[in-house]
Amino acid sequence: MNDYDQIKVHLTSNSKEKPPFDKLQFGRNFTDHMFVMDYKEGLGWHDARIIPYQPLQLDPSAMVFHYGQSVFEGLKSYLSTDGDVLLFRPSDNMKRLNRSNNRLCIPQIDEEFAVEALKRLIQIDHEWVPNGEGTSLYIRPFIISTEPFLGVAPSKAYQFYIIMSPVGAYYKEGINPVKIAVQSEFVRAVKGGTGNAKTGGNYAASLKAQESAEGLGYSQVLWLDGNEHKYIEEVGSMNIFFKIDGEIVTPELNGSILEGITRNSVIQLIKHWNLPLTERKVSIDEIFEAHKQGKLEEAFGTGTAAVISPIGEFFWQDEKIVINDHKTGKIAKQLYETLTGIQKGTVPDPF
Ligand code: PMP
Repeated sequence: MNDYDQIKVHLTSNSKEKPPFDKLQFGRNFTDHMFVMDYKEGLGWHDARIIPYQPLQLDPSAMVFHYGQSVFEGLKSYLSTDGDVLLFRPSDNMKRLNRSNNRLCIPQIDEEFAVEALKRLIQIDHEWVPNGEGTSLYIRPFIISTEPFLGVAPSKAYQFYIIMSPVGAYYKEGINPVKIAVQSEFVRAVKGGTGNAKTGGNYAASLKAQESAEGLGYSQVLWLDGNEHKYIEEVGSMNIFFKIDGEIVTPELNGSILEGITRNSVIQLIKHWNLPLTERKVSIDEIFEAHKQGKLEEAFGTGTAAVISPIGEFFWQDEKIVINDHKTGKIAKQLYETLTGIQKGTVPDPF
């Protein structure tokens, strides 16, 4: 494995024009450089380098195009008020990348080295970290199988990349509540499947339901479990929390839910604030019943993209329930302010 110092750096001689930081869209613009590292059976991970951002050249038979053996991560870096570039828990993302690698038969990476490589890349492209309200530099590490071979088997060659994109708000609603359609036909993941890995196939499989939710005027899908279509798993690409009769509850990790870094941070903070929190099975019936009894106080999603996304409405089997009068709840607001404060360095991180 390479040391940090052994990363070869080839700087661009042709820096791109930056997009206006007050009009950023999500994931459309990319910085000047990218990180690349190769893997070959027998050699291991090698040839770590930072090079100008550029298209890839791959054989059409590269295995990733056929059987989808790929994993990715998503995290953000922020500009502090002092002008420092801050990262939010990057080693948690590299740990999760390795858990995804394990599920997809991709060789493990050196997590510490990957974080160092990322820091080096950010140092080089630091002028791309935007400074406006709600903006950040979104970071996308990913690994693809590159062996030119059409047999169904783990690839013997891979490439690990990190690309970065200055971004604005992920949801046009920002911190305002979103409307969610409960999905009872399609499922995202099943027990024993790949739901707890961050692999492209999970997202390809989610598009049909997302399209149908949007057709109904809803912005995201609420996924139910794949066996009974009864228990709540996640919301779009976020984990989900509820406040029911004073208690905060979130679906327990069961192998088909992705373990969010934001979910873990939210659980830590809620416990730190001494508020009651339970990780357990939560059925969709329970949520609609709690609403009928006037006990459903809040619902919100958690994820890197939006941090905290309050939920104002659920639609399920021709029934619509409105939560908290479409207003952002107290816990969601407090979590959003604390987490974004920690991320920007204006609130001390208690952990
Ligand atoms: N669930 C899914 C399916 C996701 O894609 C994401 C985004 N990574 C999350 C939950 C939230 O995870 P995190 O808090 O690490 O962004």
